[in-house]
Amino acid sequence: MSAICPDCKTPPDNHQEWLCFCGESFNHFNNIGKCLHCGYIHEFTECQQPGCKSITLHLNWYPPVTENVMNLKSELNLISYLEKASLSKNPIRRLDVE
Ligand SMILES: [Zn+2]
Ligand SMILES: [Zn+2]
Repeated sequence: MSAICPDCKTPPDNHQEWLCFCGESFNHFNNIGKCLHCGYIHEFTECQQPGCKSITLHLNWYPPVTENVMNLKSELNLISYLEKASLSKNPIRRLDVE
């Protein structure tokens, strides 16, 4: 899974580690933010790029995930639109009036 910082768009370094509350340091991107030592799931990840240091939702670091959710949402909207459109069609055609 390729991750990039949502702010500066820099991919995290494989050697970067974040300190957990339990004192253990680990790479958030190895296990989607879950500390294997204490099991705590880190919802936020700080960008370690000098000059960025942005703290953002860990899941926002995976743009394909966000894109997939967006695609899914627009698909769902389309489906409900089509359903509504077919429901609103008047089954009784009044072609023979006149
Ligand atoms: Zn950044
Ligand atoms: Zn921990």
